Amino acid sequence: MLATAEKTADDESREFQRGTPNSVLHIDDVHKSFSGLHALSDVDLEVLEGETHAIIGPNGAGKSTLLNVCVGRLKPDRGAVVFDGEVLTGKQPHEINQLGVARVFQTPEVFPDLTVLENIMVPALSKRDGHFRVNPFKDFEREASLRDEAVATAESVGLQAQLTAQASSMSRGDKRRLELAMGLIQHPRLLLLDEPTAGMARHDTNATIDLLKKIKEGGMTKVIIEHDMHVVFSLADRISVLAGGRIIAQGTPDEVKNDPKVKEAYLGEEQV
Ligand code: ADP
Ligand code: MG
Repeated sequence: MLATAEKTADDESREFQRGTPNSVLHIDDVHKSFSGLHALSDVDLEVLEGETHAIIGPNGAGKSTLLNVCVGRLKPDRGAVVFDGEVLTGKQPHEINQLGVARVFQTPEVFPDLTVLENIMVPALSKRDGHFRVNPFKDFEREASLRDEAVATAESVGLQAQLTAQASSMSRGDKRRLELAMGLIQHPRLLLLDEPTAGMARHDTNATIDLLKKIKEGGMTKVIIEHDMHVVFSLADRISVLAGGRIIAQGTPDEVKNDPKVKEAYLGEEQV
């Protein structure tokens, strides 16, 4: 719970909301500015167990900033992020990861000098051992069971033909799938994805949608930031719309699609 000096009636009602029994992630009144630019203001968001929650909004709306606040890369100026009852704000990214939050960034972050298989094994090893390590010449050879799981995970994202490819040689779309595999092998309680299909051809986008649907059947809670409305409407149970750093609409895909505020926010951009 958050430390508050004095509780107001408003705080009481928010405590009640935070107590929603099936809430996995609660973003509580988050603000973040960059030298005077309000990237996030008054952001409240609740992600429920097992749902796929999409965060959409025009370019520069604050979507990536919000995700970076959730994973501990950015510290909010105000407010907090609560995961499974535990306050994440103030924790380091690796601590948040150890609690069961995995992420796929907008710019794929893979180990360029390692192979596909080795890249997938790194987070699995770190998770198991409770610390991060990369020692490809010693560790990977000895880890037969993890290797099998890594191969299966690579297959699940369609990278089975590239197991020994060096990550630096891969296309951006393939790196994205690799990063997704690196997230999935951790079996996270919550998976945060920042535009997982950006840079992919339509065929690969559809394959990723199918994969994310399959993961959903397994019950994993996901937050997905996405620009591609085909992906959003294929996957989302609920949608939050950010514009100018504020949540302007929240609801089911149908509710959001028909919200005039959302249409207005997207004027000059793509159709919602
Ligand atoms: P989105 O992901 O929705 O496109 P971002 O969260 O990346 O938007 O950015 C929101 C706003 O904050 C933009 O105006 C962006 O230029 C600004 N911004 C993001 N990160 C930084 C940063 N590290 N320093 C300064 N400004 C930033
Ligand atoms: Mg972004």
